[in-house]
Amino acid sequence: MDFKTDEPIARALYDEILQTAFLRITSSNSQKKSRQQLISEHERRLNHFDQAYKENLFIVYNTYEQRNIKPTPKIKFTLENRILIKDLRINKEHHGKFLLCRVIARCIKINALLTVVEDPEGDVERLALYNFNPKSVSQGGGPMKPLSVDHASKYLPIGTQIVIGNPSYQIAGDGNAIIYSDNPDDVIMIIDRKFQLCDAAWRTDRPKGTYSIIRNKQSVDEFRFRGNDYFLSKEFMAAVHEYSSGIMLEPYNTALLANRAEAYLRLQQFKKALADVEMVLKLEPSHLKAAFRKGKALCGLKRYQEAIIVLRDLCKRIKNHKDRDDNVSIKKSAIGLLKHIEMLVNESQNGKYDYICIIDELHEKAKIKDNEIANIWIHQGGPRLDHADYLIDDIEIRLSKGKGRGWFAKYDIPEHSLLMASKPFEIAHKNEAPEHTLSMISKVVSPDCIIDSSVVTGIELVIRITQKLLMEPELCREFYQLYCGPNLLPMEKLNKDMLRCVDIDRIMKTFAYVSFEQVDRTNNINHENNGLGIWIKQSYFNHSCADANVYRLFLGDLMFIRTLRPILKGEELVICHYDLTLPYERRARYLKSMDIDCKCRLCMLEISEGQENKFRRNKLIKDCKNLLTNPFNVKKFEDTVIELRSIRKHLELDPQSLEPSAGLAVVYANRGDFCKSLPIRKEIYNYSMGAVLYRTSTVFGIAFDYYALGKKKHAKIWFDKVLKEFAEYIRGKFKDDETCWRREALNLLERFTLNDFLIAKCLSLTVVARDVFSEPIFGTFTPSEPTTLIGRKRLTDPNKNIIASSWAKAVELENKNKMLIDLNILYKNFTKLNSALKKKILTLRFYTKLIKVCELQESRLNNRSL
Ligand SMILES: [Zn+2]
Repeated sequence: MDFKTDEPIARALYDEILQTAFLRITSSNSQKKSRQQLISEHERRLNHFDQAYKENLFIVYNTYEQRNIKPTPKIKFTLENRILIKDLRINKEHHGKFLLCRVIARCIKINALLTVVEDPEGDVERLALYNFNPKSVSQGGGPMKPLSVDHASKYLPIGTQIVIGNPSYQIAGDGNAIIYSDNPDDVIMIIDRKFQLCDAAWRTDRPKGTYSIIRNKQSVDEFRFRGNDYFLSKEFMAAVHEYSSGIMLEPYNTALLANRAEAYLRLQQFKKALADVEMVLKLEPSHLKAAFRKGKALCGLKRYQEAIIVLRDLCKRIKNHKDRDDNVSIKKSAIGLLKHIEMLVNESQNGKYDYICIIDELHEKAKIKDNEIANIWIHQGGPRLDHADYLIDDIEIRLSKGKGRGWFAKYDIPEHSLLMASKPFEIAHKNEAPEHTLSMISKVVSPDCIIDSSVVTGIELVIRITQKLLMEPELCREFYQLYCGPNLLPMEKLNKDMLRCVDIDRIMKTFAYVSFEQVDRTNNINHENNGLGIWIKQSYFNHSCADANVYRLFLGDLMFIRTLRPILKGEELVICHYDLTLPYERRARYLKSMDIDCKCRLCMLEISEGQENKFRRNKLIKDCKNLLTNPFNVKKFEDTVIELRSIRKHLELDPQSLEPSAGLAVVYANRGDFCKSLPIRKEIYNYSMGAVLYRTSTVFGIAFDYYALGKKKHAKIWFDKVLKEFAEYIRGKFKDDETCWRREALNLLERFTLNDFLIAKCLSLTVVARDVFSEPIFGTFTPSEPTTLIGRKRLTDPNKNIIASSWAKAVELENKNKMLIDLNILYKNFTKLNSALKKKILTLRFYTKLIKVCELQESRLNNRSL
């Protein structure tokens, strides 16, 4: 997201993001709210804002500029044009209507002037007045301190009667409705008593000038009960607020403190939770629940050893306490938590992760979402996993010449070593970004242009980071150490105030430079829901396209970084941030947006190539793509690939020609010309750089080619190669003496690339395959398996179901001819299918044919030997 070109737009966006974060912190999501609920939520907002204001916790960029205000119709102020709050309709602009209301709460000004109003009927709703311009502070320009509540309230004092013409009723960024007006001309304050409607009968008393919405004397118990109610309805912020009000009255009330600690735990604010339970334990050392929560808080703070001591002690004490039911359940939870922490310790200290369990956990957390077209499997809460961070001792951050900071090896490090694994500082997924946030933001930023949908996740991430920093300002320091471009001060130069001040400009710029897309390759994830997040340690890796020596892999929101090859002491560790098979111009544009000026071998070569060459290459690549969809003109395809490969002499630096070559290999293999497909595939294998995952199909291909050529020994070697490479890419090197590696590798393979797995299973059907592998490595294939896989929510694509069911049908008959017929039926419907499916069917068809070829060959061999 680059809004640098239009500063006012950027500032309006920053303010709206801050406002949204604020609203989200202080409102709950319940649909219908009572008058009292709306008022007490606003009270919470005022408190929060006041506190943040006093502590200089944030800056705003109020432009005080009226932008993009659409003219609205003139209104006749007659009774029939009046509208009541209860008659407002969501997402509607009530043109020609007006709302008579009066202000019943003090105001907050971030982007809009926010308050609460009631109408003569006594109905209450929130009000947001945009472009409402308190004249006395219109300095414009750079960031400034926001208006205090007292200051902002002067523009709309409590009790003021206002008329809002053409009111709209919208869903605000926090998911709750709000009365909205962006044209100040539509807002009339009724100071003139002659205004004909000001005598409307009001059901409620006129609020006093110093209207206080703080309820009269309330007891500690009342706060506790209300807090508990909020807690039960999962409104943890509101619960914290109620408990805190009670604690103000009775600072040493252990029940309130213990409850607030649990609410903080749910909000993942572990430091605050720990402070509360420590107070409880000081006052009441035998408080078992508090001890358990202390263990949880310490675990959340990654202080695992302390957590273990606390929990072990707790278990011991409960032994002596015997009988009481809730004690038994605390003990059970404590034992469960201890086991979990032991796993976390093993992960964080030894880098030992159970990858299969992690992937299964990922699948387990997937929830179904009904869609009109098909059931799409997604992670509703985003695939957030509960695992520990790990960092190897052998690397450190140092200055890298001309590139700022970077990671360096302190010692020699072998291939596929795990360097680090981390949870994100914050992450957002596309399906988590509510549509209304974006519509509200695009309205404010520019009413006529819809913000690109690809920006949705980005804005959601920035809002979440803002919210996080507003709630826990001490985290600013951790976040502000990240690179945020050349124009902002580095963290070392920020003063103490700035180090805990929520600065959206900084957050936005940091986001633009160091956010990563979380790409999940396990096979039940809907890829449209890829996340966008910030991983602090990982953002220190510098980039290289051709010479990357480390790579990243995501399992859920856990990012793993491993070495791609053996690393020498002192070497800088560099990663490839972008798809290197894309043309230089695209790559360079992307890297430039991240302030990276890559000087790797590939970039230098591409820069040195003439314009004419580039043009010719691009044309040939395009031709190949077209020929691939029509693979019957083999001669032409052949010539095009050969011509493409002749342009660049360095095969090891020609990643863009790999895909067309792979296509050609498939075409040859389809025709049974394995002598030709094999050398191409081997060449691709030797020259493919970077990630291994996409190399899998090539290695499979090589194995099949050897197999088809009757070279079973070689086929077996390559099958093992693909399995091993694939698994080691995920879990690191197998030890030489590891005997069960194949089983583990297959388990991982199944969880990653279902298609290839089916192919592997398919092979196991053939008599010959069993012959090749002395052990039944692919397990026993059952006809119902694809259906079982569907049942186990492994298949995402409804089209896959079609394949799987014809597949199952065919296998059931143990008849490969029938299977081929089924696949041919699918093939006939080719035009109706999407390209991904087409590819799959082609592959399946090819392999099914291949099996037939193999069987024929085999029977021929057998006949000969007879
Ligand atoms: Zn490069």
